[in-house]
Amino acid sequence: MTTIDGPRTGLSNQAAYADLHGFVAGGVSSNMRARGIIEPIVVDSASGCRVRDIEGNELIDVNMGYGPHLFGYADPDVTAQIAAQFGRGHMTGLPHRIDREAAGLVAELVPGVERLRFANSGTEALMSAVRLARAVTGRTLVLTFEGHYHGWSETLLRSRGGDGRRPAPGAAGMIPEAMEHTLQVPWNDAAAVEKVFADHGAELAAVMCEPVLANDGVVVPDAGFLELLRRLTGEHGALLVFDEVITGFRVARGGGQELYGVVPDLTVVSKAMGGGFPVAAFGGSREVMEPLARYEAFHAGVYSGNHAALRAVAATLAKIRAAGALYTELDGIGAHAEARVREAVDGAGRTARIGRVGSMMSVALTDPATGEVDEAGHRLLQTACQRRGVYFHPVPAEPWFLSTAHTRQDIDTVAETISEALAETA
Ligand code: PLP
Repeated sequence: MTTIDGPRTGLSNQAAYADLHGFVAGGVSSNMRARGIIEPIVVDSASGCRVRDIEGNELIDVNMGYGPHLFGYADPDVTAQIAAQFGRGHMTGLPHRIDREAAGLVAELVPGVERLRFANSGTEALMSAVRLARAVTGRTLVLTFEGHYHGWSETLLRSRGGDGRRPAPGAAGMIPEAMEHTLQVPWNDAAAVEKVFADHGAELAAVMCEPVLANDGVVVPDAGFLELLRRLTGEHGALLVFDEVITGFRVARGGGQELYGVVPDLTVVSKAMGGGFPVAAFGGSREVMEPLARYEAFHAGVYSGNHAALRAVAATLAKIRAAGALYTELDGIGAHAEARVREAVDGAGRTARIGRVGSMMSVALTDPATGEVDEAGHRLLQTACQRRGVYFHPVPAEPWFLSTAHTRQDIDTVAETISEALAETA
């Protein structure tokens, strides 16, 4: 039988994934995605909080495509509107009234955004935000934090190391001087930030962070830390840039800036905004966006703000706006998951580091002797859970992203599966 996805081959996940490697370099189109695969799952379909593979297995997914699906996979409301847009022409390269609707909704919901530009991915939007910050300030230096991922562009893909100096480039093939204008300090290290400002305050174009660190386990900002960044950037004429690719519309309707009451100069949003469609945006006050309004700064993209992507944004954000108790509901699911997973880990006599803000949560088994993350143990647990029908990412730094499609019963199944898997891998 031929489906919309192509002919059914009867291959196992393993065989289909091996076959894929002959055509797609590395089997997947993102190095980050490759880290999510120990035993391959080749997807047939996904809906709600479940993924079905080509062997007919159904798994409860708590990674949920790295975070965009607040309402679950194939949400009928959003999907219907995107499908309708495809029938009306989804990409003309001309202005469309959906531009106003989508941009207006972002501006209404995100405190720091009055005007914006749309882009196709977080990487593009962040790269453009940094370029704009450099254009606005006439400076080049950007301060970043260890463990915060800001996409894979030339001046932001960095190695670890938070000693306040230039980090090393994060990948082979980057120009050796790529990090010449980037500094890095540890997250929540107020003294290190103050030292960077004391040494380089007049050179800094921007300070960039995820308002909740979500790419190295979920680590909230210490009390007063975001306020410190806000104060120091203001005093030294640098821009504060929040990378809300993950936190935007996830930890609160208005993202981390609403949750913590600290409004940045530039905001980047992406994942939850488009319900899984490839779309991102960067924006700020009318004034900070003025160089783009006058075309003095540069940002482009044939597909930037295409009509289908913006239909996905408008449909998703309208649904978020209309759902009165959405974030209470998501927090409830998250709290239930945290409690049940903690119970499963304690019950197995194991230790784990669990971080959570609302529906975003990280779970990492730890070595009881050192307190360090037990990467190998976590991988064993992941494989055992996957074989039993629960998928989370094998890298413990990658969060779980729960949705309104996860019921308490689904979460109970996940916790029971973890208990069984921990017993098996003890
Ligand atoms: N910023 C953050 C906080 C992210 O988590 C990601 C991706 O996961 C990015 C930026 C990069 O976004 P994209 O993969 O859409 O380019």
